Amino acid sequence: MLSRRSLIAAPVVLAAASTLRITPALARAPAQGPSPAVYRFQVGTAEVTALTDGTLDLSTDLFPGAQQDPTTAERLLAQAGRPDKALPTFVNACVVNTGDKLVLVDTGAGPGQDFGPGLGRLPKNLALAGIDPAAVDVLVLTHLHPDHVGGMAPAQAAAFPNAELVVAEPEYAFWTDQGVAAQAPKDFQPFFAAARAAVAPYGNRTRRVRGGEIVPGVTLEPAPGHTPGHSMVRVSSGTDQLLIWGDIIHVAALQFDKPDWAIAFDADHAQAAQTRRRVFDMAAADRLLVAGMHLPFPGVGRVARRGDAYAYVPEPWRVL
Ligand SMILES: [Zn+2]
Repeated sequence: MLSRRSLIAAPVVLAAASTLRITPALARAPAQGPSPAVYRFQVGTAEVTALTDGTLDLSTDLFPGAQQDPTTAERLLAQAGRPDKALPTFVNACVVNTGDKLVLVDTGAGPGQDFGPGLGRLPKNLALAGIDPAAVDVLVLTHLHPDHVGGMAPAQAAAFPNAELVVAEPEYAFWTDQGVAAQAPKDFQPFFAAARAAVAPYGNRTRRVRGGEIVPGVTLEPAPGHTPGHSMVRVSSGTDQLLIWGDIIHVAALQFDKPDWAIAFDADHAQAAQTRRRVFDMAAADRLLVAGMHLPFPGVGRVARRGDAYAYVPEPWRVL
C-alpha cells in the first residue's frame, strides 16, 4: 500500500538510480602510480628523448659550502621555495636518434640500488617512449657513478644487448684499476665494484676514447672534476646544438648561484668548481641548450649570467 511518504520518496529514488546509471565516471578510478616522464624534442634533424630514472633526496649537508655559509644556503632554499634542507633531485638519461644511430646517454641507478624507492624507472619510461633496448646502437656514459651505470647491467647481463659502450679513457681506467680501488676510502669501495660490474658484460664491445666524435653529429667532451674522466655529450645538427652535460651540477637551487659549492661526491672539489664555471660561461655565452642528469625533469634549459653568478632558465615544453 502506498503511503504519502513513499509517494514523495519514489521520484527521489528513481532520480538517484538514473543518476547512478548515466554517470559511470563517478565510479572510483584506480590510482595510476608514478607519472610517466618522457619528453621528446628536436635538435636540428636529430630527435632527442629526455627520460628520467626517478628522484632521490639529497641534502644541504652534502655541500661543505652550504655548511660554511648556512645563511646563504637558507636564502637560496627560500628563494627556490624549499621548506627545508631536503632536496629532491632527479636522475635523468637521454636518447639521441641521429637518424642513423640510436645513442643512449647514461642509464640511471637501476633496480635494487641503495638510493631509496624513487629510482629504477628508466626501463618503464624507455618502453613508454617506444624505445626498444635492443635497438640502442651506442651507450655513452658521462661517468661511472652508480646513479649513471646502475641500469646498464642490472642482472649481470647487458641491458642494451646490441650497444657498443663508449667511455672516456681516464674514467674507465680510474674505476677499473684495482690499485686505485684498494686505496679509495671504504665508503667509496662499493662505487668501484658497481662500476666494474656494470661495464663487464659489454666486454669487447667497449670503445675507450679521449673525446671527439662518437657517431656523426655526437661528440664527447672532457669535463673533469666530478670524476677524473667526467665527460659531456654534444649533439650537433645543422645550426642547432644540445650539450648533455652529465653532472656539471647536482642541485640547481644552490649551485647556479654558488658555482663554487662542490657536492661531497665531487672527486676533486676545486677542479669540479672550475669546470662548472667554465661550462656555465660557455653555455651562457653561446646561449647553448643544455640537458642535465640532475636538473629538474625534463632537465633541458639554458644558463643566464647574473653578475658573478648564474641562473637556470628551463626551456619551455615544446610539443612537436
Ligand atoms: Zn650523478
